[in-house]
Amino acid sequence: MKILVTGGCGFIGTNFIYYMLGTYPDVEIVNLDKLTYAGNRANMAPLEQSPMGTRHTFVRADIADPVAVRAILADHKPDAVVNFAAESHVDRSIHDPAPFVTTNVMGVQTLLTAAMEANIERFVHISTDEVYGSLTPEDPAFTEDNHLRPNSPYSASKASADLFVRAFWKTYGFPAVVTRCSNNYGPWQFPEKLIPLMIKLAEEGQPLPIYGDGMQVRDWIFVTDHCRGVDMALRNGRPGAIYNFGGNAEKPNIDVVHSILAAMGRPETLVTHVKDRPGHDRRYAMNYSLAHRELGFEPLYDFERGLRETLDWYAANREWRDKVASGEYRTFMDAWYGER
Ligand code: NAD
Repeated sequence: MKILVTGGCGFIGTNFIYYMLGTYPDVEIVNLDKLTYAGNRANMAPLEQSPMGTRHTFVRADIADPVAVRAILADHKPDAVVNFAAESHVDRSIHDPAPFVTTNVMGVQTLLTAAMEANIERFVHISTDEVYGSLTPEDPAFTEDNHLRPNSPYSASKASADLFVRAFWKTYGFPAVVTRCSNNYGPWQFPEKLIPLMIKLAEEGQPLPIYGDGMQVRDWIFVTDHCRGVDMALRNGRPGAIYNFGGNAEKPNIDVVHSILAAMGRPETLVTHVKDRPGHDRRYAMNYSLAHRELGFEPLYDFERGLRETLDWYAANREWRDKVASGEYRTFMDAWYGER
């Protein structure tokens, strides 16, 4: 199978490409990425230096550019498309929602249109639990039937994309599947997200900024479990279906940070509470029984094992982290936390 993976130089896309090429000797990947601040071409270097590298082709392009997307589909003739490409950081979406609309909404519509014209028969669109909005501590976990109640410009853009996928299925019969997953963590995650950011700051002995009381609850899934779920949806997903994936690890942010500090032997006094993020959701939790029933999905990592592997990976890949955490990223983070 030849798969066009978009956003393959970002966190989850990179893990997915390594997972698929490592698992299936007959899979070929065309990796389409715009290489924004979050995309790292260098993530593919170890792959390209290995025998699997012959089954990977990189193309720099924007999913919102219809001419480029059509040309790539015509040149490479993939059997399937898996769309990870997105602007993905909530804080950035609060600062400036415009790129979120351009990539996450218009980009997805462009990709869907081009893929339909190219008669692609399997299309998986990667979405998030954040489209459902926020839960109270008493609420049951989200199912695929929950209303969409996005609260940030990021989640609003992701929910809009999900609705376009639904419309393409209902209107044109285009066989797309949506997967919605909880918070991922693991190797290759850009250090603006909670876990790698806290690892980096703890290592440097800097204050760890926690929004508000830190009691925002998230469900955490190790990225390889998510990649396995996406592969299941790609191979066996029902056209038009939506599948939730979760990690069975609901935790308040402050507990996650304490676990990181404990594992790294750093003091809890490094924690610094900062003004809460506007519109900050209190709790997300995923009911993935549909994915379990129809696809056989079940997360294999518990949080302790996943965190240990993540810490080991960051310790072994400091050079990567320091390289990506410079330049434009540094400027945004300094300005953002400087205001808090
Ligand atoms: P990321 O920010 O690490 O990577 C995004 C990638 O997309 C980057 O390589 C970037 O260069 C590329 N990209 C951005 N705009 C593009 C465009 N217009 N055209 C082509 N490429 C473009 O994101 P991630 O954390 O890997 O998330 C991947 C997907 O999974 C996103 O759709 C996100 O909404 C979804 N998701 C993420 C999480 C999570 O915890 N990280 C959870 C659930 C769902």
